[in-house]
Amino acid sequence: MSEASAVKSAAWDSPIDTGKVPDNGASFDSIVVGGGPGGASAAGYLAMGGQRVLLIEKSVWPRDKICGDAVGGKSLSYVKSLGVKEHLEQTAHFRVTGIMFSSPKGHEVRVALPEEDVARLEAGYALPRKQFDTLLFREVQDTVRAAGGSVIQGGEVRQVLYDDGKGGADPGPHSGDARHGAGVVVRVGGRGGEEFTFHAPNLIGAGGYRCPVAKSMLEETYDEPMIDRAHYCAGYREYWTGVKGCESQIGDIEIHFVDSVLPGYFWLFPVSEGVVNVGIGMVMAEMDKQKMKLKALQSDVIMNHKLFKDRFADATMVKGSGKGWQLPFGSPRKKGEMQPRRSASNGVFLVGDAASLVDPFSGEGVGNALVSGEMAAQHILQKKKPSEYQQALWEMLGPELTNSYRMQRMSRKAWLLNWFVKKASKKPAIQEMMTEMIASKEAQENLHSPWFMFKTLMF
Ligand SMILES: Cc1cc2nc3c(=O)[nH]c(=O)nc-3n(C[C@H](O)[C@H](O)[C@H](O)COP(=O)(O)OP(=O)(O)OC[C@H]3O[C@@H](n4cnc5c(N)ncnc54)[C@H](O)[C@@H]3O)c2cc1C
Repeated sequence: MSEASAVKSAAWDSPIDTGKVPDNGASFDSIVVGGGPGGASAAGYLAMGGQRVLLIEKSVWPRDKICGDAVGGKSLSYVKSLGVKEHLEQTAHFRVTGIMFSSPKGHEVRVALPEEDVARLEAGYALPRKQFDTLLFREVQDTVRAAGGSVIQGGEVRQVLYDDGKGGADPGPHSGDARHGAGVVVRVGGRGGEEFTFHAPNLIGAGGYRCPVAKSMLEETYDEPMIDRAHYCAGYREYWTGVKGCESQIGDIEIHFVDSVLPGYFWLFPVSEGVVNVGIGMVMAEMDKQKMKLKALQSDVIMNHKLFKDRFADATMVKGSGKGWQLPFGSPRKKGEMQPRRSASNGVFLVGDAASLVDPFSGEGVGNALVSGEMAAQHILQKKKPSEYQQALWEMLGPELTNSYRMQRMSRKAWLLNWFVKKASKKPAIQEMMTEMIASKEAQENLHSPWFMFKTLMF
């Protein structure tokens, strides 16, 4: 390990020096709004491709992000090629080797992650997003600045400008490729801070579920609502210490389909050093029908459920860690040829949560944020049209998102979960099939085959 990387790994939580704010009116090849995994990925790959990029993040690092904190195997090749994997492995983290599922009746089944991936350290991690995102941003801002670009933290994008110098409405026919993103107005330094305007022909919206670029494109330009409660999920997480069965630095993350939380699930994801991320997620349209809020539901499960009350008997919640946020799912919408929704137009490319790409079954969104960030960068570098990005994104992610949506719909039925988990707990063939499905896209396609499913479940 070089001296420089030793310093980086030891100091992941120290402030990041991002240099000077560029001069008002400066121009770049691309502007990326948001410095989470989606924005870091887009900015990193654009800079590696030789572009002068402006990366703008509203928060000041290190910043927290409400999440389950599981970083799946899909993310790791991106984490590696963005230059972060080595540093990440030198900081405290939990190595995931399997997923434990339980049914409403309390049957349990363990799905091992593929052994080869575990051995190669490519199966997955769990670590606080504050740590993961800071490591990623620290590396990417170096890459961006080394390629002649600039980075702003503590800068909130407040307006999106198009090439007519105005924000908002698109005057032309909605071909999706007609006009070019032209800039942003940023307020640096919080309320009362200074306003700057920057320009670029390409604009990447990576600002999460309330991304100002997505809002400008979807709501103000096309009059398409951003939030769809049937396809958005509410999530709530707390950090706990002293939870029994979560002491190790390596092992399983746990997903529990608990009666009082259906349709939705309760999770226990150890994140390292005895800290566990404990949370609940539920589709918002379903949550609207519940009497209890997620926080109260979670407290009830922890204190009263037969599987958990003993495990939490000596546990303590980390003060101030209980927070909620939204997950924009990538499940296919009934209406519209653009799935899961419009994600590009006019020199504007949306990535990650801004493009509504969270897996509707597992709730994983970091992987698809990294995937879409890289894909948007490649489309810009190869001068492809935004409409081609829209199409390529769904071709790549659509099949697995559609599959996960089917599984999410099935998991709303308690009797089906009880039957499936009980069956799976007794049949190694089903456990192997589930491991295979985590490992390969080809295996996921078996889910579409009624004969394959029938054979595996019944014999
Ligand atoms: C409770 C919960 C549990 C989850 N669990 C998991 C999990 O275990 N594993 C997993 O893979 N995914 C999980 N997810 C989903 C995951 O958190 C997101 O999909 C992921 O963070 C998306 O990355 P992103 O870069 O698109 O957006 P974000 O991570 O939200 O990053 C967006 C960034 O943009 C910045 N920003 C916002 N507005 C502006 C502005 N106006 N100007 C400048 N910057 C701005 C924000 O400060 C932020 O840093 C969970 C989500 C929730 C809510």
